[in-house]
Amino acid sequence: MNPEYQAYLRSTEWREKRKEFLEEANYECERCNNPATQVHHTSYENIYNEEKEDVEVLCKSCHEEAELEKGKEVEYGDEYGEI
Ligand SMILES: [Zn+2]
Repeated sequence: MNPEYQAYLRSTEWREKRKEFLEEANYECERCNNPATQVHHTSYENIYNEEKEDVEVLCKSCHEEAELEKGKEVEYGDEYGEI
């Protein structure tokens, strides 16, 4: 993961944006309908300018699965962990 992207995930901009995605999804996980806390990138095509199609609103356990599907080690920087 590049440092710029990591910094972006900690930025106010991304926090505001992910909050909007969560609100749009009514804080419901798109996979299992449990309370969602995380916004997962399914595509990095529009990174820094994400559209709804580029993300998936997920609960913590579905997010972990999603990261495993991408073949990545799950490592959370903080509560809001997004990778
Ligand atoms: Zn879920």
